[in-house]
Amino acid sequence: MSGTQVRRMIPVEEAMAQLMEMAEAAPIRERETVLLAAASGRVLADDLVATLDLPPWPNSAMDGYAVCLADWHGEPLTVSQRIFAGQAPEPLAPGTCARIFTGAPIPVGANCVEMQENAVVGEDQRVRFTEPLVTGQNIRPQGQETTVGDVVLEAGTRMGPIELGLAASLGRAELDVVRRVRVAVLSTGDELIEPGQTLGPGQIYNSNRVVLCNWLERLGCEVVDAGILPDNLEKTRSTLGNLGYVDLILSTGGVSVGEADFLGHALREEGELSLWKLAIKPGKPLTVGHYRNVPVIGLPGNPASTLVTFALLARPYLLRRQGVQDVVPLRFKVPAGFSWSRPGDRREYLRGRLEQGQAVYYSNQSSGVLRSAAWADGLIEIREGTTVALGDWLDFIPLSEVLG
Ligand code: AMP
Ligand code: MG
Repeated sequence: MSGTQVRRMIPVEEAMAQLMEMAEAAPIRERETVLLAAASGRVLADDLVATLDLPPWPNSAMDGYAVCLADWHGEPLTVSQRIFAGQAPEPLAPGTCARIFTGAPIPVGANCVEMQENAVVGEDQRVRFTEPLVTGQNIRPQGQETTVGDVVLEAGTRMGPIELGLAASLGRAELDVVRRVRVAVLSTGDELIEPGQTLGPGQIYNSNRVVLCNWLERLGCEVVDAGILPDNLEKTRSTLGNLGYVDLILSTGGVSVGEADFLGHALREEGELSLWKLAIKPGKPLTVGHYRNVPVIGLPGNPASTLVTFALLARPYLLRRQGVQDVVPLRFKVPAGFSWSRPGDRREYLRGRLEQGQAVYYSNQSSGVLRSAAWADGLIEIREGTTVALGDWLDFIPLSEVLG
Protein backbone atom coordinates (compact mmCIF):
# COMPACT_ATOMS: atom_id res chain seq x y z
CA MET A 1 0.00 0.00 0.00
CA SER A 2 1.35 3.40 -0.89
CA GLY A 3 0.82 6.24 1.52
CA THR A 4 0.52 6.26 5.23
CA GLN A 5 -2.18 6.16 7.81
CA VAL A 6 -1.07 8.61 10.45
CA ARG A 7 -2.53 7.83 13.83
CA ARG A 8 -1.29 10.71 15.91
CA MET A 9 -2.82 14.12 15.51
CA ILE A 10 -0.80 16.51 13.37
CA PRO A 11 -0.42 20.06 14.68
CA VAL A 12 -1.58 22.79 12.31
CA GLU A 13 1.98 24.14 11.81
CA GLU A 14 3.26 20.71 10.80
CA ALA A 15 0.43 20.19 8.30
CA MET A 16 1.13 23.64 6.91
CA ALA A 17 4.85 22.92 6.57
CA GLN A 18 4.16 19.68 4.70
CA LEU A 19 1.65 21.34 2.39
CA MET A 20 4.15 24.11 1.61
CA GLU A 21 6.75 21.51 0.75
CA MET A 22 4.28 19.79 -1.58
CA ALA A 23 3.38 23.11 -3.18
CA GLU A 24 7.00 24.04 -3.74
CA ALA A 25 7.63 20.66 -5.36
CA ALA A 26 5.01 21.48 -8.01
CA PRO A 27 5.30 25.18 -8.81
CA ILE A 28 3.22 26.65 -11.63
CA ARG A 29 5.96 27.81 -14.00
CA GLU A 30 3.96 28.93 -17.03
CA ARG A 31 3.38 32.63 -17.32
CA GLU A 32 1.35 34.95 -19.47
CA THR A 33 1.27 38.64 -20.32
CA VAL A 34 -1.97 40.35 -19.38
CA LEU A 35 -3.28 43.89 -19.60
CA LEU A 36 -2.89 45.81 -16.37
CA ALA A 37 -6.62 45.84 -15.58
CA ALA A 38 -6.80 42.08 -16.11
CA ALA A 39 -4.00 41.44 -13.62
CA SER A 40 -6.21 41.83 -10.56
CA GLY A 41 -5.85 38.80 -8.30
CA ARG A 42 -2.95 37.45 -10.35
CA VAL A 43 0.58 36.76 -9.14
CA LEU A 44 3.56 38.67 -10.56
CA ALA A 45 5.96 36.43 -12.47
CA ASP A 46 8.84 38.96 -12.35
CA ASP A 47 9.92 41.69 -10.01
CA LEU A 48 8.33 45.02 -10.86
CA VAL A 49 11.40 47.24 -11.29
CA ALA A 50 11.12 51.02 -11.53
CA THR A 51 12.19 52.34 -14.93
CA LEU A 52 11.60 55.94 -13.85
CA ASP A 53 11.77 58.01 -10.71
CA LEU A 54 8.56 58.75 -8.83
CA PRO A 55 7.86 61.57 -8.92
CA PRO A 56 9.79 61.98 -12.19
CA TRP A 57 10.60 65.64 -11.37
CA PRO A 58 10.24 67.83 -8.26
CA ASN A 59 6.72 69.18 -7.94
CA SER A 60 4.61 71.32 -5.72
CA ALA A 61 2.68 69.80 -2.82
CA MET A 62 0.54 72.94 -2.52
CA ASP A 63 -1.22 75.67 -4.44
CA GLY A 64 0.99 78.70 -3.78
CA TYR A 65 4.12 80.50 -4.89
CA ALA A 66 7.53 79.12 -5.84
CA VAL A 67 10.49 81.26 -4.81
CA CYS A 68 14.25 81.07 -4.64
CA LEU A 69 15.59 81.62 -1.14
CA ALA A 70 19.21 81.37 -2.29
CA ASP A 71 18.73 84.49 -4.40
CA TRP A 72 16.48 86.66 -2.23
CA HIS A 73 15.92 90.28 -3.16
CA GLY A 74 13.18 90.97 -0.62
CA GLU A 75 9.44 91.41 -0.90
CA PRO A 76 7.13 92.13 -2.57
CA LEU A 77 7.79 89.75 -5.43
CA THR A 78 6.52 90.03 -8.95
CA VAL A 79 4.74 86.96 -10.31
CA SER A 80 6.77 86.05 -13.40
CA GLN A 81 4.85 82.94 -14.57
CA ARG A 82 1.88 80.69 -13.74
CA ILE A 83 2.52 76.95 -13.67
CA PHE A 84 -0.34 74.46 -13.73
CA ALA A 85 -0.02 70.68 -13.38
CA GLY A 86 0.84 69.27 -16.79
CA GLN A 87 2.85 72.32 -17.91
CA ALA A 88 6.58 72.66 -18.47
CA PRO A 89 7.81 75.81 -16.63
CA GLU A 90 10.45 78.34 -17.60
CA PRO A 91 13.39 78.75 -15.22
CA LEU A 92 12.47 81.15 -12.39
CA ALA A 93 13.46 84.75 -13.23
CA PRO A 94 15.74 86.09 -10.49
CA GLY A 95 13.99 88.15 -7.82
CA THR A 96 10.51 86.97 -8.83
CA CYS A 97 8.09 84.26 -7.76
CA ALA A 98 5.99 81.81 -9.80
CA ARG A 99 2.33 81.15 -9.17
CA ILE A 100 2.23 77.34 -8.88
CA PHE A 101 -0.44 74.69 -8.37
CA THR A 102 -0.37 71.25 -6.75
CA GLY A 103 1.43 68.67 -8.88
CA ALA A 104 3.04 71.26 -11.18
CA PRO A 105 6.81 70.98 -11.83
CA ILE A 106 9.03 73.23 -9.74
CA PRO A 107 10.78 75.71 -12.07
CA VAL A 108 14.55 75.48 -12.25
CA GLY A 109 15.97 77.93 -9.73
CA ALA A 110 13.13 77.72 -7.19
CA ASN A 111 13.79 75.96 -3.88
CA CYS A 112 10.70 76.72 -1.81
CA VAL A 113 6.93 76.83 -2.22
CA GLU A 114 4.82 78.88 0.12
CA MET A 115 1.13 78.02 0.31
CA GLN A 116 -1.31 80.59 -0.95
CA GLU A 117 -2.93 80.87 2.49
CA ASN A 118 0.32 82.51 3.73
CA ALA A 119 0.57 84.95 0.81
CA VAL A 120 -0.92 88.43 0.44
CA VAL A 121 -1.34 89.78 -3.09
CA GLY A 122 -1.14 93.57 -3.20
CA GLU A 123 -3.09 95.88 -5.48
CA ASP A 124 -0.03 95.96 -7.73
CA GLN A 125 -0.36 92.13 -7.97
CA ARG A 126 2.95 91.67 -6.17
CA VAL A 127 3.20 89.13 -3.38
CA ARG A 128 4.28 89.26 0.27
CA PHE A 129 4.43 86.38 2.71
CA THR A 130 3.08 86.31 6.26
CA GLU A 131 5.27 83.47 7.60
CA PRO A 132 8.99 82.73 7.49
CA LEU A 133 9.98 80.67 4.43
CA VAL A 134 11.98 77.45 4.75
CA THR A 135 14.17 75.95 2.03
CA GLY A 136 12.57 72.88 0.44
CA GLN A 137 9.17 73.35 2.01
CA ASN A 138 6.15 72.05 0.09
CA ILE A 139 8.36 70.54 -2.60
CA ARG A 140 8.01 66.84 -3.36
CA PRO A 141 11.51 65.93 -4.49
CA GLN A 142 12.21 63.84 -7.57
CA GLY A 143 12.44 60.13 -6.62
CA GLN A 144 10.83 60.69 -3.21
CA GLU A 145 8.78 57.50 -3.59
CA THR A 146 10.95 55.42 -5.93
CA THR A 147 14.12 55.75 -7.92
CA VAL A 148 15.10 53.96 -11.16
CA GLY A 149 16.12 50.36 -10.43
CA ASP A 150 14.11 49.97 -7.21
CA VAL A 151 12.26 46.65 -6.88
CA VAL A 152 8.83 48.08 -6.18
CA LEU A 153 7.02 44.72 -6.01
CA GLU A 154 8.66 41.33 -5.84
CA ALA A 155 7.86 38.37 -8.06
CA GLY A 156 5.23 36.36 -6.19
CA THR A 157 3.20 39.42 -5.19
CA ARG A 158 -0.56 39.10 -5.57
CA MET A 159 -1.91 42.05 -7.47
CA GLY A 160 -4.73 44.00 -5.87
CA PRO A 161 -5.96 47.54 -6.48
CA ILE A 162 -2.96 49.12 -4.74
CA GLU A 163 -0.36 47.03 -6.55
CA LEU A 164 -2.08 47.75 -9.88
CA GLY A 165 -1.87 51.45 -9.02
CA LEU A 166 1.88 51.18 -8.40
CA ALA A 167 2.40 49.44 -11.73
CA ALA A 168 0.31 52.14 -13.43
CA SER A 169 2.35 54.92 -11.79
CA LEU A 170 5.43 53.35 -13.38
CA GLY A 171 3.72 53.38 -16.76
CA ARG A 172 3.17 49.65 -17.10
CA ALA A 173 0.27 48.77 -19.39
CA GLU A 174 0.91 45.02 -19.22
CA LEU A 175 2.30 42.63 -16.66
CA ASP A 176 3.75 39.14 -16.77
CA VAL A 177 1.84 36.97 -14.34
CA VAL A 178 1.83 33.32 -13.34
CA ARG A 179 -0.77 31.20 -15.12
CA ARG A 180 -3.92 30.67 -13.10
CA VAL A 181 -4.01 27.52 -10.99
CA ARG A 182 -6.55 25.06 -12.37
CA VAL A 183 -8.55 23.55 -9.53
CA ALA A 184 -11.22 20.89 -9.87
CA VAL A 185 -13.89 21.02 -7.19
CA LEU A 186 -15.54 17.72 -6.32
CA SER A 187 -18.33 17.30 -3.80
CA THR A 188 -18.61 13.74 -2.58
CA GLY A 189 -21.64 12.21 -0.95
CA ASP A 190 -24.71 10.21 -1.97
CA GLU A 191 -26.84 12.53 0.13
CA LEU A 192 -26.04 15.61 -1.94
CA ILE A 193 -28.26 17.22 -4.54
CA GLU A 194 -28.00 20.61 -6.16
CA PRO A 195 -30.12 23.64 -5.26
CA GLY A 196 -33.13 23.84 -7.57
CA GLN A 197 -33.89 20.15 -7.29
CA THR A 198 -36.53 18.77 -4.96
CA LEU A 199 -35.17 17.38 -1.73
CA GLY A 200 -35.83 13.68 -1.32
CA PRO A 201 -35.61 11.60 1.86
CA GLY A 202 -32.16 11.72 3.41
CA GLN A 203 -30.90 14.32 0.97
CA ILE A 204 -29.31 17.69 1.60
CA TYR A 205 -28.35 20.50 -0.70
CA ASN A 206 -24.75 20.79 -1.73
CA SER A 207 -23.40 23.98 -0.20
CA ASN A 208 -19.67 23.30 -0.30
CA ARG A 209 -19.57 23.34 -4.07
CA VAL A 210 -20.67 26.95 -4.42
CA VAL A 211 -18.61 28.04 -1.42
CA LEU A 212 -15.41 26.62 -2.89
CA CYS A 213 -16.06 27.53 -6.53
CA ASN A 214 -16.79 31.12 -5.61
CA TRP A 215 -13.90 31.35 -3.18
CA LEU A 216 -11.43 29.90 -5.69
CA GLU A 217 -12.57 32.38 -8.30
CA ARG A 218 -11.94 35.18 -5.85
CA LEU A 219 -8.45 33.78 -5.36
CA GLY A 220 -7.78 34.02 -9.09
CA CYS A 221 -7.98 30.28 -9.79
CA GLU A 222 -9.41 28.66 -12.90
CA VAL A 223 -12.22 26.56 -11.50
CA VAL A 224 -13.24 23.24 -12.99
CA ASP A 225 -16.57 22.41 -11.42
CA ALA A 226 -16.55 18.63 -11.32
CA GLY A 227 -19.96 18.37 -9.65
CA ILE A 228 -21.17 15.76 -7.22
CA LEU A 229 -19.36 12.47 -6.88
CA PRO A 230 -21.57 9.67 -5.55
CA ASP A 231 -20.13 7.31 -2.96
CA ASN A 232 -19.18 4.76 -5.61
CA LEU A 233 -15.74 3.48 -6.56
CA GLU A 234 -16.32 3.12 -10.31
CA LYS A 235 -17.63 6.65 -10.62
CA THR A 236 -14.81 7.95 -8.42
CA ARG A 237 -12.20 6.29 -10.65
CA SER A 238 -13.69 7.60 -13.88
CA THR A 239 -14.17 11.12 -12.56
CA LEU A 240 -10.62 11.36 -11.23
CA GLY A 241 -9.30 9.87 -14.45
CA ASN A 242 -10.86 12.72 -16.45
CA LEU A 243 -9.16 15.38 -14.35
CA GLY A 244 -5.59 14.74 -15.44
CA TYR A 245 -5.24 18.29 -16.75
CA VAL A 246 -5.84 20.17 -13.49
CA ASP A 247 -3.26 21.38 -10.97
CA LEU A 248 -5.26 20.27 -7.95
CA ILE A 249 -8.29 18.14 -7.24
CA LEU A 250 -10.05 19.65 -4.25
CA SER A 251 -12.75 17.45 -2.81
CA THR A 252 -15.04 17.71 0.16
CA GLY A 253 -16.56 14.93 2.20
CA GLY A 254 -15.90 11.25 2.31
CA VAL A 255 -13.07 11.46 4.80
CA SER A 256 -14.90 10.77 8.05
CA VAL A 257 -13.72 7.76 9.97
CA GLY A 258 -15.88 4.73 9.29
CA GLU A 259 -17.18 5.99 5.99
CA ALA A 260 -16.90 3.92 2.85
CA ASP A 261 -13.80 5.69 1.62
CA PHE A 262 -13.98 5.66 -2.19
CA LEU A 263 -11.73 8.61 -2.79
CA GLY A 264 -9.07 7.10 -0.54
CA HIS A 265 -9.46 3.74 -2.26
CA ALA A 266 -8.98 5.25 -5.71
CA LEU A 267 -5.92 7.19 -4.57
CA ARG A 268 -4.35 4.11 -3.03
CA GLU A 269 -4.90 2.19 -6.28
CA GLU A 270 -3.48 4.77 -8.65
CA GLY A 271 -1.56 7.25 -6.68
CA GLU A 272 -0.63 8.04 -3.19
CA LEU A 273 -2.61 8.84 -0.09
CA SER A 274 -2.01 10.19 3.36
CA LEU A 275 -4.89 10.50 5.78
CA TRP A 276 -4.13 13.18 8.26
CA LYS A 277 -5.77 13.59 11.58
CA LEU A 278 -5.30 17.27 12.17
CA ALA A 279 -5.21 18.82 15.60
CA ILE A 280 -7.78 21.33 14.43
CA LYS A 281 -11.41 21.92 15.26
CA PRO A 282 -13.53 22.01 13.26
CA GLY A 283 -11.93 19.86 10.58
CA LYS A 284 -10.01 16.90 11.93
CA PRO A 285 -9.79 14.58 8.89
CA LEU A 286 -7.85 15.67 5.83
CA THR A 287 -6.86 13.63 2.77
CA VAL A 288 -3.66 14.60 1.01
CA GLY A 289 -2.22 12.72 -1.93
CA HIS A 290 -2.02 12.25 -5.68
CA TYR A 291 -4.20 10.59 -8.28
CA ARG A 292 -1.90 9.58 -11.12
CA ASN A 293 0.24 12.71 -10.94
CA VAL A 294 -2.41 15.20 -9.93
CA PRO A 295 -2.24 16.50 -6.36
CA VAL A 296 -5.41 15.92 -4.33
CA ILE A 297 -6.57 17.64 -1.17
CA GLY A 298 -9.70 16.18 0.42
CA LEU A 299 -11.33 18.52 2.88
CA PRO A 300 -13.84 17.34 5.46
CA GLY A 301 -17.45 17.67 4.33
CA ASN A 302 -19.02 19.55 7.21
CA PRO A 303 -19.44 23.10 5.92
CA ALA A 304 -17.66 24.86 8.80
CA SER A 305 -14.84 22.30 8.63
CA THR A 306 -14.53 22.85 4.89
CA LEU A 307 -14.29 26.58 5.50
CA VAL A 308 -11.65 26.42 8.24
CA THR A 309 -9.42 23.87 6.53
CA PHE A 310 -9.65 25.65 3.19
CA ALA A 311 -8.84 29.02 4.77
CA LEU A 312 -5.92 27.80 6.86
CA LEU A 313 -4.40 25.05 4.70
CA ALA A 314 -5.69 24.73 1.14
CA ARG A 315 -5.62 28.46 0.40
CA PRO A 316 -1.97 28.88 1.44
CA TYR A 317 -1.12 25.76 -0.58
CA LEU A 318 -2.72 27.20 -3.72
CA LEU A 319 -1.01 30.55 -3.29
CA ARG A 320 2.36 28.91 -2.77
CA ARG A 321 1.89 26.87 -5.96
CA GLN A 322 1.84 30.26 -7.73
CA GLY A 323 4.99 31.41 -5.97
CA VAL A 324 3.38 33.61 -3.32
CA GLN A 325 5.63 33.74 -0.26
CA ASP A 326 3.32 35.58 2.05
CA VAL A 327 0.59 32.96 2.45
CA VAL A 328 -0.15 32.96 6.17
CA PRO A 329 -3.27 34.99 6.85
CA LEU A 330 -2.94 38.18 8.84
CA ARG A 331 -4.02 37.84 12.47
CA PHE A 332 -4.20 40.26 15.33
CA LYS A 333 -4.75 40.09 19.06
CA VAL A 334 -8.17 40.78 20.52
CA PRO A 335 -9.39 40.53 24.11
CA ALA A 336 -11.74 37.62 24.77
CA GLY A 337 -15.29 38.63 25.58
CA PHE A 338 -15.85 35.14 27.02
CA SER A 339 -14.16 32.54 29.15
CA TRP A 340 -13.28 29.00 28.07
CA SER A 341 -12.73 26.41 30.73
CA ARG A 342 -12.23 23.17 28.78
CA PRO A 343 -8.71 22.86 27.35
CA GLY A 344 -8.90 20.95 24.06
CA ASP A 345 -6.45 18.60 22.38
CA ARG A 346 -7.06 20.34 19.06
CA ARG A 347 -6.58 23.97 18.07
CA GLU A 348 -10.02 25.45 17.90
CA TYR A 349 -11.22 28.10 15.46
CA LEU A 350 -14.40 29.66 16.74
CA ARG A 351 -16.45 31.57 14.25
CA GLY A 352 -16.68 34.94 15.95
CA ARG A 353 -16.75 38.68 15.68
CA LEU A 354 -15.79 41.77 17.61
CA GLU A 355 -18.41 43.44 19.74
CA GLN A 356 -17.40 46.56 21.70
CA GLY A 357 -13.76 45.68 21.11
CA GLN A 358 -14.06 42.13 22.45
CA ALA A 359 -14.18 38.81 20.64
CA VAL A 360 -17.40 36.85 20.97
CA TYR A 361 -18.42 33.65 19.22
CA TYR A 362 -21.56 32.35 17.57
CA SER A 363 -23.71 30.36 19.94
CA ASN A 364 -23.64 27.16 17.85
CA GLN A 365 -20.11 26.08 16.91
CA SER A 366 -21.15 22.74 15.41
CA SER A 367 -19.06 21.95 12.35
CA GLY A 368 -22.25 21.49 10.34
CA VAL A 369 -23.43 25.05 10.95
CA LEU A 370 -22.34 27.31 8.11
CA ARG A 371 -24.50 30.06 9.56
CA SER A 372 -21.87 30.49 12.28
CA ALA A 373 -19.45 31.69 9.61
CA ALA A 374 -22.00 33.96 7.94
CA TRP A 375 -22.55 35.64 11.32
CA ALA A 376 -18.82 35.84 11.99
CA ASP A 377 -16.22 38.35 10.89
CA GLY A 378 -13.33 36.07 11.69
CA LEU A 379 -11.86 33.02 13.33
CA ILE A 380 -10.93 33.21 17.02
CA GLU A 381 -8.04 30.88 17.73
CA ILE A 382 -7.93 28.89 20.95
CA ARG A 383 -4.70 26.98 21.16
CA GLU A 384 -4.66 23.35 22.23
CA GLY A 385 -4.28 22.75 25.95
CA THR A 386 -5.31 26.24 26.96
CA THR A 387 -8.16 27.84 28.85
CA VAL A 388 -9.27 31.43 28.42
CA ALA A 389 -10.31 33.99 31.00
CA LEU A 390 -12.39 37.03 30.14
CA GLY A 391 -10.05 39.69 28.74
CA ASP A 392 -7.24 37.30 27.75
CA TRP A 393 -5.67 38.22 24.42
CA LEU A 394 -6.49 35.80 21.60
CA ASP A 395 -5.54 35.66 17.92
CA PHE A 396 -8.25 36.74 15.51
CA ILE A 397 -8.02 36.00 11.77
CA PRO A 398 -10.41 38.24 9.83
CA LEU A 399 -12.47 36.32 7.27
CA SER A 400 -12.06 39.26 4.88
CA GLU A 401 -8.36 38.44 4.87
CA VAL A 402 -8.79 34.83 3.76
CA LEU A 403 -11.81 35.10 1.49
CA GLY A 404 -9.99 36.94 -1.29
P1 AMP B 1 -18.35 13.47 5.23
O1 AMP B 1 -17.02 14.16 5.41
O2 AMP B 1 -18.63 13.03 3.86
O3 AMP B 1 -18.57 12.40 6.24
O4 AMP B 1 -19.43 14.59 5.55
C1 AMP B 1 -19.56 15.16 6.83
C2 AMP B 1 -20.85 15.93 6.91
O5 AMP B 1 -20.83 17.02 5.99
C3 AMP B 1 -22.07 15.11 6.58
O6 AMP B 1 -23.12 15.53 7.43
C4 AMP B 1 -22.36 15.51 5.16
O7 AMP B 1 -23.71 15.35 4.80
C5 AMP B 1 -21.96 16.93 5.13
N1 AMP B 1 -21.53 17.32 3.81
C6 AMP B 1 -20.62 16.68 3.05
N2 AMP B 1 -20.47 17.28 1.86
C7 AMP B 1 -21.29 18.35 1.87
C8 AMP B 1 -21.57 19.37 0.92
N3 AMP B 1 -20.96 19.38 -0.27
N4 AMP B 1 -22.47 20.32 1.25
C9 AMP B 1 -23.07 20.29 2.46
N5 AMP B 1 -22.84 19.36 3.39
C10 AMP B 1 -21.97 18.40 3.11
MG1 MG C 1 -19.83 11.79 2.84
